[in-house]
Amino acid sequence: MRLLARLFVLSFVLIAARTRADAVATANAPANLTAGDLAMVLQKTDGGVALTSLVDTAAKQELLAAKPLPLVELTLRNVKSKEEVRLTADDGWGEVDIQNDPAGGLTIRWARPNWARPKKDALAGCALRVTARAIPEPEKSGIRWTLAVDSPGDQWSVWRVVFPQVALGDLGPGTEVLFPRGSGEVKRGASREAFRFEGPYPGGWVGMQFMACYAPDRKTGLYFAMHDPWGSTKDLLAASQPAEHATTLRFDHPTEDMGKANNRFSLPGEAVWRLLRGDWFDASVMYRDWARAHAKWYPRLGADGREDTPQWMRELSVWVMTGGPPEEVVPDVEHFAKEIGVPVGLHWYNWHEIPFDNDYPHYFPTKQGFAEAVRKLQGAGVFVMPYINGRLWDTRDKGAEDFEFTSVARPAVTKDADGKPIVETYGSTEGDGSKVALGVMCPATELWRNKVQGTVLRLMNECGVKGVYIDQVAAATPVLCFDATHGHPLGGGHWWNEGYWTLMDSLRAAMPKDHMLTTECNAEPFIKGFDGYLTWHWQYDDQVPAFPAVYGGAIQMFGCAYREGETKDLALRMKAGQQLVYGEQIGWFHPNVIKDEANAAYLHQVVGLRWRLRRYFFAGEMARPPKLQGEIPQVRADWQWTPNWWVQNEAVLAGAWRLPAENRAVVLLTNTSDKPVTAKLAVDAGSYGVPGAEVRVTRITAEGPGETFTAPRVFERELTFAPGSAWAWELTAP
Ligand SMILES: [Zn+2]
Repeated sequence: MRLLARLFVLSFVLIAARTRADAVATANAPANLTAGDLAMVLQKTDGGVALTSLVDTAAKQELLAAKPLPLVELTLRNVKSKEEVRLTADDGWGEVDIQNDPAGGLTIRWARPNWARPKKDALAGCALRVTARAIPEPEKSGIRWTLAVDSPGDQWSVWRVVFPQVALGDLGPGTEVLFPRGSGEVKRGASREAFRFEGPYPGGWVGMQFMACYAPDRKTGLYFAMHDPWGSTKDLLAASQPAEHATTLRFDHPTEDMGKANNRFSLPGEAVWRLLRGDWFDASVMYRDWARAHAKWYPRLGADGREDTPQWMRELSVWVMTGGPPEEVVPDVEHFAKEIGVPVGLHWYNWHEIPFDNDYPHYFPTKQGFAEAVRKLQGAGVFVMPYINGRLWDTRDKGAEDFEFTSVARPAVTKDADGKPIVETYGSTEGDGSKVALGVMCPATELWRNKVQGTVLRLMNECGVKGVYIDQVAAATPVLCFDATHGHPLGGGHWWNEGYWTLMDSLRAAMPKDHMLTTECNAEPFIKGFDGYLTWHWQYDDQVPAFPAVYGGAIQMFGCAYREGETKDLALRMKAGQQLVYGEQIGWFHPNVIKDEANAAYLHQVVGLRWRLRRYFFAGEMARPPKLQGEIPQVRADWQWTPNWWVQNEAVLAGAWRLPAENRAVVLLTNTSDKPVTAKLAVDAGSYGVPGAEVRVTRITAEGPGETFTAPRVFERELTFAPGSAWAWELTAP
């Protein structure tokens, strides 16, 4: 009775809050769901169901745009003619039903489609059924969604499923959109300016499956995520329609067994919407909490972080990257290691006789003297990690000759829907000038898994390297492979990830103790299989460290591409400073960078400071970065990710990391500019988990601990940051 009364009052509030007159115009009663402060209204339309309102009842804010989008969009493909038709949630259904369930949820059923685009009667007689369930999470002001698509019949295959999809409205000039490119990015002024982010997940440019649209100044907004524990293949979209002051967010799933008659689709995991009363960091913490509890790739963490990662790798604080024969590599790296004075990682390219991106995967023999050089360097505090590729087999794998591609690799290469091998080209060319065409190998095949494992183990056991870098695994996105002989579902799903999981489990079990593996970029589903991710592409304007906020401590992040150009020294400080506050291992630059006095001075500070604080990054977690108050100048340099790649940032970068089990935290600060900067820093030690009314603050630099003072739990200081300086405040209980 009380519940009914509440629902009645709430629907009244909601209807009053709506600006769209047509929301109440149909004869059908709206279906309401409330979850804490989040209230949703669904409305039956002529041939479907429309999401007509999503309200933050506490802020009295309608979150949807004036022109809503269909919650679901289906693409079906005719198995014979290959013609594709589209169906949306709001139109074209012969039967629609919305049921309230006793737990406060809603079940929506669509059946018997009688209208499709572009061919109106294509689906006549099709028994297709779609069922969505919305489950309230009152304590989180959230809604969890499941979706199932069933029985398209013998003529049709469910090809792609867009779900969920929303058009969010403008939340004021401060509206921001968080999207997961690289480390994470925030588009400010979203919905009022043209903006579009879109791409396939999981990959280096879409590494996680959550987005958010929010106004931090108004403390309202929406967390919009897929909590899919398999990390299944899907496309993400965040795009604005400035004319309508709207932002579209959506997930688009290629289905398992796409193209096969009468396949079914069920949403892998749940789609989750929650009110967001903060910013990108709060959204990241929501996702982090889910990932820790449910993601299949989340590694086991102990008191000292990843216990399956060698201690030396967890602690490593600096990387160099070079390549070629030992006589060119060894002297420079030895010199760097001696100068920097802490253990060094070496990413060694072109240690093999074959050219780069050519004749893969025939990496052996090594260049003359490789194993001896590895021994020598590793005796001098340098951990050697050679490059191999984890995806590619050259179609002409012995010069211009097809040596083993057709005879050995072809059955295990990925195939498109027509059965043709999927090949890629990069910058490399064969002797005759033609592009090297590299087949993308299918990780579901034992042949490829054995090949990668064999190469890695040979490098570790015969050449003595402490680590191997397996390129592209967390960078390139899953291929929609249609080769039925591989034994995986055709096209979409999560079989691609599982193929690599099998590979990595077997490889980790077989490799010698105290060894480690890394790969390129930061697609999350492979975290458990690797010890380190090469986050070299975190080079965008408006970046935020969302990935470190979610996965700090679960994987070691290392490497940024350091490049040339007129502003290269400033770019070096901006990159190294960013790596410091993001919790990354610093580098990877050419070892000769240390021969430049100014660069050396800055790197000594940043690397030395990171080395002293290293436990925070492998056993701790990221905390909310502090925001400096005052006039902080901006710096701008050409980072040369591609030519003329200008990145702008605040001159002073700030980050915070904490060791929750040890009640301590650290605030990291670095001035990347060549001028002093004065600004105010406010610290709330309690928000970093340091207990008590007072806090002990110790200033730490590369040289060690310095000045110490005791302050109230919440305190503020005006500080002057010297040019090119890096230091930290460690916060502990007094
Ligand atoms: Zn395959």
